[in-house]
Amino acid sequence: MSQARLAPCLQLPLENKTLVNVIEKAKDWALMHGVGMRDKKHFNKDVIQIAPFILLPSPFPKTEFMKAVELQPVLNELMHKVAHDDEFLEQTLQNALQVDEFTANLYDIWLKVKNEGISQSLSLGLFRSDYLLQHPDGNVLKQVEFNTIASSFGAITSHLPNMSRYILRQLGHGDLIKNMPENRALSGLCSGIIEAFDLFGVLNAVVLFVVEEVSYNICDQRFHEFEISEKRPEIQIYRKTLNEIYEETELNDKKQLILDGHPVAVVYYRSGYEPAQYPTAREWDARLRVERSTAIKCPSIHYQLAGTKKVQQALAGPGVLEKFMGSGTSTSRVRDIFTGLYSLDFDESGERAVEMALADAERFVLKPQREGGGNNVYGSEVRDALTRMRHSRERAAYILMERILPPLVSGYMIRPGAPVPPPLVDLVSELGIFGVIIGTKEKIYCNRQVGHMLRTKLADANEGGVAAGLGALDSPYLL
Ligand code: ADP
Ligand code: MG
Ligand code: MG
Repeated sequence: MSQARLAPCLQLPLENKTLVNVIEKAKDWALMHGVGMRDKKHFNKDVIQIAPFILLPSPFPKTEFMKAVELQPVLNELMHKVAHDDEFLEQTLQNALQVDEFTANLYDIWLKVKNEGISQSLSLGLFRSDYLLQHPDGNVLKQVEFNTIASSFGAITSHLPNMSRYILRQLGHGDLIKNMPENRALSGLCSGIIEAFDLFGVLNAVVLFVVEEVSYNICDQRFHEFEISEKRPEIQIYRKTLNEIYEETELNDKKQLILDGHPVAVVYYRSGYEPAQYPTAREWDARLRVERSTAIKCPSIHYQLAGTKKVQQALAGPGVLEKFMGSGTSTSRVRDIFTGLYSLDFDESGERAVEMALADAERFVLKPQREGGGNNVYGSEVRDALTRMRHSRERAAYILMERILPPLVSGYMIRPGAPVPPPLVDLVSELGIFGVIIGTKEKIYCNRQVGHMLRTKLADANEGGVAAGLGALDSPYLL
């Protein structure tokens, strides 16, 4: 793998004494500004520790950053159209639905709600499009995936650049701060929830966050609540698990979702994107109840279905983008960010994709219809998995994606409890751009790009889950 380097913002390594000194400052800054998480190993609700972060902002090419920013409204609208094209969703997902129970359950809810008559035609999307740079092509942007549910870290990564700025000043390099872009992801994402609340337009209505049993990423979630409360003091926010929603809500005769005597205006899912979050039929019943209601869902279930890997792969097929977007320059700009994406359906093209991957497994990633990290298959395991699934319908639950080879950057990863000073390590960064959209099939009320996040992982890790300790929150330094 030829992976050249992007130059760091400062000459590295830092001298040891300086490094130890600024890390202590950075950690305290982080703790005192909510760059934190709850500890999975020694869980204690009263204790928040630093979220893993990168000490100095990581380099990212400015032109590619701007390209991602400019494309976001285009991608928002594309996904909105995809989500409202029933026939396309059905055709695209049909084979995966046969073998993927989770996606099938979501799809069944969608069918049920449609057959009963949709009681809320507005959807709210708080999206995040993720990218790696493809080094062999000259460090151009390639889309990793498009998240339509529970897109996280908008809040923490809105605060983090201020830490990087503080550290740069402490190191006597305040002049470099001009290369760090503003990030207003938190207020932008919250503005979407507030606008949806206003469109719902019912006095006394409330906002409901659907949360996990235990929220480890509590800072990121709570900041949304604080921000909304500050901007709109009258808006009450509840946090409930799907099981609590099952027990504590009901639909009234107007199909309003009633919680604690209040109609729910907006349901914001920070949970509900993976099978483990539906341990019993109660959670599915709760999801169905919410989807039947007049509440504006973030995301609505068809937005969630449009966010599947299978849809991402289908969009890369010949003529598909043109069907949704026409054949103008926007279409070719979107096509440019796609990397090779292949169906593994049980047909001729699926067969060809299997052959191609078996011949050169290292070139690909195998992805199931899952969210939240840790589900993909890499390297030689791609060959093992495809050999095992070759003659089984199970393979239709996956897509095959060309592996993106990002450039390396050097940096210091700061993790809770890790020895100080940490080694200078090779890292790779993944950029996420946040978007907000609100609309019905016929009309889009708002559509904008609202901010970014950078997540950086050890270069030799396949994935960079922040909670898993392989990834860390970061800020871009534009080159
Ligand atoms: P999830 O929805 O679980 O986050 P992703 O598609 O984002 O799924 O994959 C998880 C991680 O795997 C990404 O953050 C990235 O680090 C890595 N990854 C995914 N696709 C590719 C790819 N095509 N090339 C290289 N790395 C990838
Ligand atoms: Mg995802
Ligand atoms: Mg991802």
